[in-house]
Amino acid sequence: MLLVDVHAHLDHVDFADDIKQVIDRAQAAGVKAIITQGVNHESNLAVLALSKKYDIVKAALGLYPLDATNVKVDEAYFSGEPLLPRTKVDVDDTLAFIEKHKDSIIAIGEVGLDAKFSKDMKMQLENFEKIITLSKKIKKPLIVHSRKAELETIEMLETAKHERVLMHCFSGKLKLAKRIEDNGWMLSIPPCVVRSSHFQDLIRRTNIGHLLTETDAPYLGPQPGVRNEPANVIESIRMIAQIKKMTVEDTANNLFQNYQRLFL
Ligand SMILES: [Zn+2]
Repeated sequence: MLLVDVHAHLDHVDFADDIKQVIDRAQAAGVKAIITQGVNHESNLAVLALSKKYDIVKAALGLYPLDATNVKVDEAYFSGEPLLPRTKVDVDDTLAFIEKHKDSIIAIGEVGLDAKFSKDMKMQLENFEKIITLSKKIKKPLIVHSRKAELETIEMLETAKHERVLMHCFSGKLKLAKRIEDNGWMLSIPPCVVRSSHFQDLIRRTNIGHLLTETDAPYLGPQPGVRNEPANVIESIRMIAQIKKMTVEDTANNLFQNYQRLFL
C-alpha cells in the first residue's frame, strides 16, 4: 500500500529529539512521501536540510501568511501555531530564496491567507498575489492555508487561473468543496477526521479523485493534545474508505494517484 502525507511540519521543535524514529515509523506504515512545509526563512532552511537527509521527505518552501506580515501576536494565544520567526521576514527575499531552490522543491507551501489571527488583510493579499505569481513562474503547485478567508483565497486563485492547488485543512463552508473540485484542485484530510464531523462531511461531498491525506503534524492528530506524526495518515485513509465504501487498499491507491497527478 502506498501512503502519502502531503502536509507536515517535521522541522517543528516537537520532533527535534526523535525525527529519525518518526520517519522510520512512517516508512514502516507504508508512507512513501512526506511533504514538509516551510513557514519562514529559518523553517525553509530546516526543511531543505531534512529533504536532503531523508529521501522520503519532500520539501515545500513557503511563507506562512502570519509570518509574512510580521504580525505581533500573543504567544500564549498562539501556542498551537507554527513557531514565529525570530528574525524579521522580508517577503521579497524569501520569495527569491524559494525561486533559487526551485529544483529542490516539490511545491510552494505553506502559504495563503489567515483572517483569524491577523486583520491586516491588505498586506496578506499583496503577499499572496506575489506567491501565486511565483508559483506559476516556476511551475510548482501551491499548498494553501485559508483560515477564515476561504472564499477570498479561492477567488484569488481562480482569478489567477491556477490549476495546481491543494487546500490543506479546509475548514470553510462545505458548499465551497464543490467549487474547489470544479477548479480541478485537491483537498487533504487530516487524521483528526476521526473526531471531526466537518472533515467527514468534506469527504462525503468530495469525489475521491480530489482527496489527499495530510497530518499537519505535530497538529491535527487523531487524539486531541497528542503529538501527531506522518504514520497516522492511515487514520484518514480508513475514514475515507469507510465513507466511500471502498477497501483501504483501493482508497490508498486512488489517493496516491492523486498525489502523483498534482505533485509529480
Ligand atoms: Zn501546516
